[in-house]
Amino acid sequence: MNKDPLQRRGFLKSTAAAGATWAAASMAGGDAPNAAETVAAANSVAQIETKADVLVVGGGTAGTIAAIQAARAGAKTVLMEQGSQLGGTMTVGGVAFPGLFHAWGKQIIAGIGWELVTKAVEMDGGKLPDFSTPPPRHWLHQVLINPHVYAVLAEEACRQAGVTICYYEFPLSVKSAAKQWLVDAVGPGTRRAVQCSQLIDCTGGADVVGMLGFPRLREEETQPGSMLYKFGDGFQAGRERLSAVYVHGADSSNSVTRTQANLTGRQEILSRLRARRAGGDKRARLVQIQPEAAFRESYRIQGEVVITHADYVTGRVFDDAVSYAFYPVDLHTRSGVRPKPLAEGVVPTVPLRSLVPQDSRRLIVAGRSISSDRLANSGLRVQATCMANGQAAGAAAALAAQRSSTPLDVPLDMIRETLRQHGAIVP
Ligand SMILES: Cc1cc2nc3c(=O)[nH]c(=O)nc-3n(C[C@H](O)[C@H](O)[C@H](O)COP(=O)(O)OP(=O)(O)OC[C@H]3O[C@@H](n4cnc5c(N)ncnc54)[C@H](O)[C@@H]3O)c2cc1C
Repeated sequence: MNKDPLQRRGFLKSTAAAGATWAAASMAGGDAPNAAETVAAANSVAQIETKADVLVVGGGTAGTIAAIQAARAGAKTVLMEQGSQLGGTMTVGGVAFPGLFHAWGKQIIAGIGWELVTKAVEMDGGKLPDFSTPPPRHWLHQVLINPHVYAVLAEEACRQAGVTICYYEFPLSVKSAAKQWLVDAVGPGTRRAVQCSQLIDCTGGADVVGMLGFPRLREEETQPGSMLYKFGDGFQAGRERLSAVYVHGADSSNSVTRTQANLTGRQEILSRLRARRAGGDKRARLVQIQPEAAFRESYRIQGEVVITHADYVTGRVFDDAVSYAFYPVDLHTRSGVRPKPLAEGVVPTVPLRSLVPQDSRRLIVAGRSISSDRLANSGLRVQATCMANGQAAGAAAALAAQRSSTPLDVPLDMIRETLRQHGAIVP
């Protein structure tokens, strides 16, 4: 311990939290702690114990909807998100044009995702496309939303449903014990032990499934990610789309690969800005850049069933279908993308078994990492589809928790009925 009174005073001044602790102790009539003790208290990690029926990991496109559905169906629900807001690729990634909710002139996806999207459009004074006839290009039926409005509305809906949101936290380990999951999670200054009956992995890369050692699918080559930005005088959220640079090799596996994707994306945008200015465009300004790169493709689960390209393009109606999907086959490569629209009248479906990792119990997945081959996934990964399967996962997990069971043992009729009660369209 530093014995010099002056130096000691200086040291304590430099730690505001430590000073506050000492002041509180003095006011309470206690002895002022020595410097070493004070610093230890300031750095201590809060240990939190949380019991829940359902833990959703990942508060993105699918996870937000899964959590709201689970909570509205009566489950005590915790939503753990490593970032600081909800919406994932839609908001933080800047891909703020969810689709597709309609196929061939008819709505095929509704429910909680549609509720939030339409509320966001209304609150922003925006406009929905005319869905009455199939558009000449699929993207004309995407709904342009203001991502800031969407994120706060999603947060409000979670809170109103009673979801406990844990920002800045992520699981370190997940263990199974006596029909419960024990999840050890960390965040800055916190360590949380979650005990829950059901787990929903909505991380976009099946991170939890990987931690548990269940098989995942991923090819050598993956689609590029993108970093979204805008050059110009200003950016009108909810009124225009951002520009994007491809980030080839973008990989969401871990913090090192995610960092690399951000560095590559930002450097490319900087190079473009320099080139514009060097080319004489002195008014070129970077007015918007998203905080992180967005990933198109990562790990998918090996589920109880794998949706194949043939299933997707023929619109196979699975016996255990819980939601629809609709989008062209949309595989981005180094040379760009040529979406292959579905044949007229085709509307693919998503079976419950494609959300469940093979041979797992009390574990379900939603979002882009559902069990599918690469080509089928290039169409299934879009936002409306992720929202719809997120709602299905939330309903299945909540019912499984109530019955001390596993999602695949819940009678399908019960899951479908719960989904309908909460506004979803079920095949
Ligand atoms: C550039 C680009 C353009 C696209 N264009 C379209 C389009 O035009 N229309 C369309 O509908 N779709 C589009 N998509 C696809 C779509 O946006 C995504 O596939 C979809 O949003 C994925 O949803 P998700 O819920 O699976 O993942 P995300 O929305 O990415 O959510 C995952 C969440 O999990 C969190 N997370 C990750 N790991 C952990 C962890 N270990 N612990 C805690 N939290 C964690 C993340 O922070 C994130 O919030 C596009 C995608 C990209 C990248």
